[in-house]
Amino acid sequence: MKAANGCLVYQCLYCGTIDRKGRLTDSVFRDHVAIENVPFYCRLCKFRSQDRLKLCEHLANYGRHQQAAAKLGPMLNNRELLVKAPSPRFVTEADIIRVPSIQEVAAETESVFLTDWLAEVTPVVTTHCDTL
Ligand SMILES: [Zn+2]
Ligand SMILES: [Zn+2]
Repeated sequence: MKAANGCLVYQCLYCGTIDRKGRLTDSVFRDHVAIENVPFYCRLCKFRSQDRLKLCEHLANYGRHQQAAAKLGPMLNNRELLVKAPSPRFVTEADIIRVPSIQEVAAETESVFLTDWLAEVTPVVTTHCDTL
């Protein structure tokens, strides 16, 4: 188990995009979920999330939000900007599926190759023109 390879890769079932789970969830909200159904949403910078804490954090961490907030200055009112959907639509395993990472695929290919090679006990049989 290597931590560097530990990040799981997911695939969007609607458009086939492959990405890490968090980023793919973001893109599902951006591309496939109507804005009124996104669980938590910022009107100011269009930040979307299904995690209330992430929405709070983006106020301090998200560059695009901070730029827009700086323009508003004293007009800024988080209560008006942050929207909680009345009927939220959450991204689940029904929207994105886990796919093997490149490392996993490589490991699998290698073990199959080794198994074939070790299992090769019969001499090479020359194929005749059976199909003709
Ligand atoms: Zn998609
Ligand atoms: Zn924002």
